[in-house]
Amino acid sequence: MYINGEWVKALSGDSFPVTNPANGQQIGAVPNGGSEEAKLAVDAAADAFPQWAAKTAEERSHLLRKWYECILDNKNEIAETLVLEQGKPLKEALGEITYAASFLLWYSEEAKRVYGETIPASAPDKRIFVVKQPVGVVAAITPWNFPAAMITRKLAPALAAGCTAVVKPAEQTPLTALKLAEAAERAGIPKGVINIVTGNPEEIGEVWLGDSRVRKITFTGSTEVGKLLMRGAANTVKKVSLELGGHAPFIVFADADIDKAVEGVIQSKFRNSGQTCVCANRVYVQAPIIEKFVAKLREETKKLTVGDGLDPATTIGPLIDEAAYRKVESHIEDAITRGGQIECGGKRVSAYEDGYFVEPTIISGVTDDMKIMQEETFGPVAPVLSFSDVEEVIRRANNSPFGLAAYAFTENLKTAITVYEQLEYGIVGINDALPSVAQAPFGGYKESGLGREGGHHGIEEFLETKYVSIRI
Ligand code: ADP
Repeated sequence: MYINGEWVKALSGDSFPVTNPANGQQIGAVPNGGSEEAKLAVDAAADAFPQWAAKTAEERSHLLRKWYECILDNKNEIAETLVLEQGKPLKEALGEITYAASFLLWYSEEAKRVYGETIPASAPDKRIFVVKQPVGVVAAITPWNFPAAMITRKLAPALAAGCTAVVKPAEQTPLTALKLAEAAERAGIPKGVINIVTGNPEEIGEVWLGDSRVRKITFTGSTEVGKLLMRGAANTVKKVSLELGGHAPFIVFADADIDKAVEGVIQSKFRNSGQTCVCANRVYVQAPIIEKFVAKLREETKKLTVGDGLDPATTIGPLIDEAAYRKVESHIEDAITRGGQIECGGKRVSAYEDGYFVEPTIISGVTDDMKIMQEETFGPVAPVLSFSDVEEVIRRANNSPFGLAAYAFTENLKTAITVYEQLEYGIVGINDALPSVAQAPFGGYKESGLGREGGHHGIEEFLETKYVSIRI
């Protein structure tokens, strides 16, 4: 673990294994930390905070820029570690490292643009100023699906704002997080500014929630754990940002460019084996083109290659673990039982029995009562449904407790505008299946989350607003 600028073991000496989801083999072990290590990390972050906050924005900017460079200098090694513990194809892992680093570059600039305001006063002898200040120590809890990007998307704006941080990466993917910390150390980020604690999620989470020095919790993960953290944060009224589950509708209108729409479904649905919170989870296709669309989608899906992420031919890696596989399997079985037809895929890949590989799958004849239509699948399974008109599809798309990402493919401007205005989603891609970038606000409506990451919106989450009234 990395606490107060030192590489340390758990106080108990215990560690836990990290395994490769492609073959079940152990690739390393990390310290099994708990409440004591969680507290030591907050001690370090709280001690480092005054000095870090007092640095000029330009000094923080330079250090973030240096961290960005150190990550890119070591891009291949970090990407390989990511593939080994997470499973995604190497090309996607390299893409993730570039994406992860882009937040450091962008916020190294934004650090210099945290502006205040002056406001006209109500009395001639008064002056009103508004200044922004860092919230303090930030606790970040991150998931396994983007082990690098979910850390930098939080730490880049936090550090730019002048906050220090304690981080708990997912137990499946702690090695990438530690590689990022190595790069931060090489970049000269002062000790205590970033602390990474690996180990027991409940114990670590409880200590951070209970510690009044932690002023902000930022979390990406399941809606269930997000709600638990939000409740826990209430006792000390911490600021909370949550990036939770999604159930993205992907709508294809009859006037869409079918080739682009099919390419969009492949990118959105099968990237990271369908394990992203913005993955298309339901594909609605307008009735007149559904047969043509499914035929084309089936043809393109069959071109995908399932395999070990380190094999250059691989385009679909394994699912992260047994539990993930069971969920995907249960969604496919439930859809078949309720009358869905498998257009392609549908089975576990038998050639790799020690990994959790699922064939990229398309299911047609899907109905709204199927599990796959209610829960986030988090696997390479695309259910396809038909719809008749724009009002109907918007109603069906919005009929969900989630509201993270939605996609629509159409060549008609009026349809595009109607759709983006009426969809109750935080991110809408029109003819664009990959909208996430560092300079834009990422986040959800409804139970998909609170707050935004990325863009100038993202740094606000780590700033307090102070109003100063001066009588002269
Ligand atoms: P997933 O189902 O995708 O694994 P989780 O929400 O369980 O998503 O995990 C996301 C992150 O939340 C991980 O780092 C995990 O260790 C952490 N986590 C899980 N349960 C808790 C908890 N009770 N308190 C704090 N963190 C938790």
